[in-house]
Amino acid sequence: MNIQLPPPVRYAMNALIRAGHQAYIVGGSVRDVLLGKEPHDYDITTSALPEEMTELFSRDRLLLNGLKHGTVTLIKYGTAVEMTTFRIDGEYTDGRHPDDVEFTGNLYEDVTRRDITINALCWNPETGLIDYVDGEDDINKRIIRCVGDPDRRFSEDPLRMLRALRFSSTLDFDIDPLTAECLLDNCQSLEKVAVERVLTELKKLLTGPRAEQILLDFRPAFEVILPELSDLTSDRYMLAARRVSLTPEAPELRLAALLYGLEPEKIASCAARMKFGKLHRRFLEAIGLNAVRPLPTDRAGMRRMLGEMGAELLAGLIELRNADTRALCHLVIQQGDCVSVKQLAVSAEDVFEAGVSRRKSGPCLSFLLDEVIEDRLPNEREALLAAAKENFVKEPPAPSGKSRKRHKKKPPAQGQEAECRPDGDLSGNADAQDGCTE
Ligand code: ATP
Ligand code: MG
Repeated sequence: MNIQLPPPVRYAMNALIRAGHQAYIVGGSVRDVLLGKEPHDYDITTSALPEEMTELFSRDRLLLNGLKHGTVTLIKYGTAVEMTTFRIDGEYTDGRHPDDVEFTGNLYEDVTRRDITINALCWNPETGLIDYVDGEDDINKRIIRCVGDPDRRFSEDPLRMLRALRFSSTLDFDIDPLTAECLLDNCQSLEKVAVERVLTELKKLLTGPRAEQILLDFRPAFEVILPELSDLTSDRYMLAARRVSLTPEAPELRLAALLYGLEPEKIASCAARMKFGKLHRRFLEAIGLNAVRPLPTDRAGMRRMLGEMGAELLAGLIELRNADTRALCHLVIQQGDCVSVKQLAVSAEDVFEAGVSRRKSGPCLSFLLDEVIEDRLPNEREALLAAAKENFVKEPPAPSGKSRKRHKKKPPAQGQEAECRPDGDLSGNADAQDGCTE
């Protein structure tokens, strides 16, 4: 495998290697190359100690704010390249930061402190790919898997759980079953992660192609970082997840799509706690205020709403409303909700057998459909027949055999034959059936 390094990275690597140090590109850049993507930045891991790097690059511009963790940032040809000494993370007593980091001359130790296998690959032009953790295999199988024991890795740094979810969502990779199980077991400790980090990961996660699935599969984790989501019934939560996936890929808009179904006060307190940006908070407020307001359908109405909200917020609101409607439509179709008489668990013949007259079977089915649509009745044969009897049979029903006999004896009037067939679809033809039954 050959990687064409950009000039600033090549410069840094060559200088380190020529000075007798080990140096590799590591993490996101190697992962992205293997995925056939252009890396957005390159991190170098090296055996050189921080003071050796500052000495070696003393004639270059350096940023030293990461020195404590072994990171020296070289600014070369207008680009920043992070170079970090091989290190082992110390204890994580606060679950947020290692108490201390220990430098090591051992690449293996540096690799095995990393979060997930696909982020733990190294490369340099002489050695080629170095893969201690089967990361390449996981890239090929499209799997997110912790380096080492997931339970331990998540409990020492809970941010790793969000990163695992984020990479699964954005790369559309499966999460390895053991990693997924430990993630759900440990997700309560996500409350220790700083809100700024949560927000950064969450925004990336929500724009990924697998965001909806991740939201559904790991709801307990999302309820820890956004406890407001616990207010949603499972149906409304499912709708929120679908709405996210149907909203354009802007992170703020997707976050708004997730929170859209909540009470405006809940949205506002969530936005304040999570330190959303000012414009984002204004947007969420406008959404809350206009959640049930009909969108304008004429020019005057549009002028008014544009005047009140401004073009940007109104465009966002329209996107959300649109996504919400589409999400509802998808769910109703996908879950096979009953939307027509044909989908009822009983037919005209069934209600007739239960004692409803032929003339009333059409209205009876319409009534049952309304009840099912409004969730007042389940679409189940027993319940529907009971409701049909209760509402459409005044006298005790005649035995069905007798009723059929009578029906046969009395031929239908001309032109009404189709409506009177016992197995015909009688719905909607009730008026035309007068005189056909009983
Ligand atoms: P991207 O920059 O594309 O979001 P990345 O993998 O480069 O992805 P960074 O946040 O830049 O992510 O981190 C660089 C590398 O540092 C990762 O690839 C991983 O090896 C390691 N890393 C980052 N965060 C953690 C963590 N919380 N625990 C363990 N290793 C981590
Ligand atoms: Mg990176």
